[in-house]
Amino acid sequence: MNPSEWFTEQAAGAGSAFSLKIKRKLHEEQSDFQYLEIYETETFGNLMVIDGCTMVSTRDNFFYHEMMSHPALYTHPNPKNVWIIGGGDCGTLREVLKHPSVEHAVQIDIDERVTRLAEIYFPELCESNNDPRADLKFIDGIKWVKDAAPNSVDIIIVDSTDPIGPAEGLFGVDFYRDCFNCLTENGLLVQQSESALLHLNLIKEMRDAMSSAGLSHTQTLFFPQCIYPSGWWSATIASKNALSAFREHDAKNKPFNTVYYNADIHNASLAQPEFFKQAFNSAK
Ligand code: SAM
Repeated sequence: MNPSEWFTEQAAGAGSAFSLKIKRKLHEEQSDFQYLEIYETETFGNLMVIDGCTMVSTRDNFFYHEMMSHPALYTHPNPKNVWIIGGGDCGTLREVLKHPSVEHAVQIDIDERVTRLAEIYFPELCESNNDPRADLKFIDGIKWVKDAAPNSVDIIIVDSTDPIGPAEGLFGVDFYRDCFNCLTENGLLVQQSESALLHLNLIKEMRDAMSSAGLSHTQTLFFPQCIYPSGWWSATIASKNALSAFREHDAKNKPFNTVYYNADIHNASLAQPEFFKQAFNSAK
């Protein structure tokens, strides 16, 4: 294998790696916050890499973007105001805006360059950026949440990079406390929570921190994501009050197209693997 023809991300500590055969490198730059690369691959379309970690590919981003948005939006009784912390590729924003109940969706990414590159190399993910309900801010999501008014948002989606660098504080109890204050009574936080196979301790710490901040009802859901380490990813939903069953009837009759998400997938994603149940058997 000629390394110059392949992009490889090694999963630190897991003794594994994921590679994609590349046609060429389309772009690279050091932004004010992180190192950004875009590749054209042989079989996965374009690939965005941040600080050496795969973020988004044309071919498989639908798993992640749909599962970061629709389960939470169909769990909240009537989501009107949504914030996306991170999410600079705009794919989650596009999914959120498919929900007719949403009146205002704010995407808060620290790095404007991620969005500018997504507009060029992933235009399909940015197709709702000019929706009048969309609002793109380029500041630190930690500061945004700290400065926000209490009871001002129904759903906060944390679509961030891994918990290192600028995203580290997005996985801590102070951030969750600020989220708690901003959320309305039925409000939900949903956060990408890495791989249950490789990062079980991170999920435990995250759920403990959410709980300490008053978001004591948590639910982790699972979905495939082949470009991320282990190929199996998760998102964790947290709320102040007990999570009600998702609006299955509405999900079955969703007025928009998806590639992966539907009501059956939603139910299936909530099934807890045996090792996960054992790890969390005392969790609420
Ligand atoms: N799907 C990806 C994953 O799980 O690997 C995440 C993709 S998205 C492009 C991650 C975004 O989080 C990046 O654009 C990065 O700039 C943003 N980000 C990291 N830390 C942030 C912070 N403190 N506030 C706002 N955005 C942040």
